[in-house]
Amino acid sequence: MNYIVFDLEWNQCPYGKEKENPRLPFEIIEIGAVKLNENMQVTGEFHKLIHPMVYKRLHRKTREILDIDMKSLKEGAFFYQAVREFLQWCGEDYMFCTWGNMDLIELQRNMKYYGLQELLPGPVRFYDVQKLFSIAFEDGKSRRALEYGIDYLHLEKSEDFHHALTDAHYTAKILKRIDSSVVRSNFSIDCYQNPKTKEEEIRIVYDRYVKYISREFKSKEEALKDREIAASQCFLCGKNARKKIRWFSINAKNYYCMALCPRHGYLKGKIRMKKTDEGKIYVIKTIKLSDEAEAALIREKREILKKKRKNRKV
Ligand SMILES: [Zn+2]
Repeated sequence: MNYIVFDLEWNQCPYGKEKENPRLPFEIIEIGAVKLNENMQVTGEFHKLIHPMVYKRLHRKTREILDIDMKSLKEGAFFYQAVREFLQWCGEDYMFCTWGNMDLIELQRNMKYYGLQELLPGPVRFYDVQKLFSIAFEDGKSRRALEYGIDYLHLEKSEDFHHALTDAHYTAKILKRIDSSVVRSNFSIDCYQNPKTKEEEIRIVYDRYVKYISREFKSKEEALKDREIAASQCFLCGKNARKKIRWFSINAKNYYCMALCPRHGYLKGKIRMKKTDEGKIYVIKTIKLSDEAEAALIREKREILKKKRKNRKV
């Protein structure tokens, strides 16, 4: 299996958000990638500048960050050609690796725009190196800039950041420094192509938690009424763990609950409501091993929210 470490640069509407094409808010203008074999040795690289079709001028921010001009982009390949070449170059057996989860989303959104989504069927499993860095060297929750990771590991910084190929190389260097067992047991799933039917739903058991990705619903309310979404089963023994704190929302997107398994103790449930491009809702639910201290914290959180909401009503 090969690791395909890739990085994209994109442009956005130069005339402001109101004038953007809602089907393509971010137009990819550069693809850079490095191929690593199973022993993490670099065996190839891929680089393409993309001829923009939607936004013919660079947004101020894009110009500030990227050392790129329209003239050289216009000499680039068309996206639909470049992406085909890219996927061909990737080969048959590979895992994508990116710094953060944005690149894979925008890659698929751009492919969808050109009707090429079939070339990359989803949901796509990948390694989020930004997340792996945090698990390996920090608290697992922090999300750092690529340059921070390079500095942290005292890796050589010989080239400027924000070039797709350079950033892909930097990301690969960091990936190489992360213990392979950490990498393997912490893959991510990109759900830009989310499950549509019950059969396509995803359930993955990690070390200390289980992740469930649901099919689509019309609304949040409808999703929460679903028995499986509301359930707080213990993922270790399969028994129904009794809820000590029922699902409550902390904001428009996130819900928590606390349950108690007689054998395995406290379990913390979290639901994230996700919206598709078409306005449908799907749910990412995690049930994690927890403890009494966290249960107390969650209870406190709920009480504070209750008070706040009550005060607002008065
Ligand atoms: Zn249990």
